[in-house]
Amino acid sequence: MENIRDFNELIFDPLVCVKCGYCKSTCPTYLATGDERFSPRGRLIISYKILKENLDIKETFDFYRDLDTCSKCTECERTCPLELKPYITFVRTKNKTLFGKLETLMAKITISSKTFFSLSFKIISKTRGAKLPQDNEPSSSFQEKFTGVPQSSEKVLFFPSCFGYTIFSPVAKKAEMLLKKLGVNFVVSPASFSCCSAPILLSGDMDSFRKRAEKFVRKLKKDAEGAEVKKILVNGPTCTWVIKNFMKDELEKEFSHEIEVKEVSDFILSKITDMLKGRKISDGDEIILHKPCHSEVRMGEKLRELGFQVKETDFYCCGFGGSMFFKNWSMSDELLRKTLGSFEQDIKNGAKIFSNSPGCVLQLSRSASSDHILSLISQYLNKI
Ligand code: SF4
Ligand code: SF4
Repeated sequence: MENIRDFNELIFDPLVCVKCGYCKSTCPTYLATGDERFSPRGRLIISYKILKENLDIKETFDFYRDLDTCSKCTECERTCPLELKPYITFVRTKNKTLFGKLETLMAKITISSKTFFSLSFKIISKTRGAKLPQDNEPSSSFQEKFTGVPQSSEKVLFFPSCFGYTIFSPVAKKAEMLLKKLGVNFVVSPASFSCCSAPILLSGDMDSFRKRAEKFVRKLKKDAEGAEVKKILVNGPTCTWVIKNFMKDELEKEFSHEIEVKEVSDFILSKITDMLKGRKISDGDEIILHKPCHSEVRMGEKLRELGFQVKETDFYCCGFGGSMFFKNWSMSDELLRKTLGSFEQDIKNGAKIFSNSPGCVLQLSRSASSDHILSLISQYLNKI
């Protein structure tokens, strides 16, 4: 999928699916429940019913709820032999119902301001027993070690994401400090609270998303202040996925050339491993790593290169995504149990679990001690 225009133009007729069921083998909600209703194939049949049958309000709501349990992890796209994108059908079908339109409205309100965003996440985190990140500053010896690395001439834009402007601002601050110490010539963009509008995109309201995408990219361009920007660093894999895949046209139009969009933790870890050339910063400290579903990066390998002993979760959907953390609590709980199932003893022994997705860190904190990967790095680099 190249960009948002493809997203709009994709055929989303559920009948295109040949019902082979291959997609079930990787769908986390099907694997967690064994229920066909929660598989890509089952949801395509449900989409067909919503679109073509004359359902009453109760039936529509029940089917809407079934579609709503999709986490938009995109795994079905990777396994479908016809390269279908079932999750696109689900979000667009949902948006044709009254409940889907309410979902879009709620998404718009949540991301409309820093206050609404912070408040809604603070309330839901408290209700669901999730812990917000703490503002623990990295040690001063770490900061001293990196002072003096010359800045590169290439200007980079860093988008902290809606999380980074609000409840994950301690992590965004660490990212900024690390970028500075690594000599990256960057500017935080946009300068104040902003959202890439992923919640609008994933609620299926494509027209609203496109308008917002244009506005968002214009803000980025303004912050470049005439400098030639070739790279945008983004806090979190889902926002990276959205900007990279669904704003390509807008970026090319504003910047007049191709822009590389990279997740900031991935960029920082790569830069550090390149700089250290095999030297280690950890003497084999054990960590658990959770790779978020939208992440393209093999972060475990980089952390091993830095000396960590890394165990990785093999169930890739922790139950945060697709608004599950907010709305579909039983599915969200089931996916969390599946993700952490094989680490029960490690967690009891005090093992900490890390991820580069703010959403995953929140969800994991409900059952384990969790933190962002950049918090980990900022604590260990003082050993260099
Ligand atoms: S793998 Fe593709 S064609 Fe087969 S059931 Fe799933 S969505 Fe349909
Ligand atoms: S996007 Fe993920 S959760 Fe949704 S149907 Fe596809 S594999 Fe299942």
